[in-house]
Amino acid sequence: MRSIPLLDVDDTKVFDEITAAKRGQRRVRLTAARPAVLEAYERYDDATPEVGNLAHAVLTAPQEEALNHAFNVETAPMTEMRRSILKRISVARCPFCGISESSTLDHYLPKEQYPEFSVFSPNLVPCCSPCNTRKRDKILDDETDVRLFVHPHFDQIPTTLFLAADVDLRADAIVLSFRVTRPAGMALATFQSLQSHFRLLDLADRYRRMALEHLGGQYRALKRAYGPGEDADRVESELALTAEDFEKRYGENYWLAVLYRTLSFNEAFCNGGFEVLNGR
Ligand SMILES: [Zn+2]
Repeated sequence: MRSIPLLDVDDTKVFDEITAAKRGQRRVRLTAARPAVLEAYERYDDATPEVGNLAHAVLTAPQEEALNHAFNVETAPMTEMRRSILKRISVARCPFCGISESSTLDHYLPKEQYPEFSVFSPNLVPCCSPCNTRKRDKILDDETDVRLFVHPHFDQIPTTLFLAADVDLRADAIVLSFRVTRPAGMALATFQSLQSHFRLLDLADRYRRMALEHLGGQYRALKRAYGPGEDADRVESELALTAEDFEKRYGENYWLAVLYRTLSFNEAFCNGGFEVLNGR
């Protein structure tokens, strides 16, 4: 999970262009909804990042349908905004998981509950399809009222280490697991939000599988570093350097940074234990 920049766009202009591109009753309904929608945009901007409890705009059912239609049935201005959001290299990798390609737009506040934000760019998070599918219509935890997901446009992602990996090296296999921890000084609500984000997007299992797949491709490089002299220190320093590169580029909590750092600390893995990756 990581922060991403907002698209520099005039959302009022986009709304008006989409309205103009619609026909008949939908254009009439979007025009009628305009004051309530623009007022809601302001409330969203004022509330960030705590948008989870935002009051709903007062809209008629046909206006809500027209707003959802504005996103679901594309017009030239909507297509242009979608393309502009997704084409940026800075969001090419999904900010929710850090694994897959961003190919869809998630409504941080779901459009079924908040149709007024269906084409509001700050609410449109470029992300991968697995994350979008898992996130669905969830916003707040019923009991704690804490937001269930990090908002990549507005939340400050903690820079202290909160993602941990565990390595269990067995005779013929490597068992990996990932979890969220609570570093000293982290507010409880922040921790709860990270935990639910991690759990609901199934990141433990997705990181585990992708890490094993990734490591399979690293076997030959590890073997080269180890060399005929069986230099475990060299393997360790190569792993640590790669961890540092990932940390510098993507932050301490990037899953590959955590993976490499954890492996660099594992003496058995560095001292030939990586052989379990051979043929994987
Ligand atoms: Zn994702």
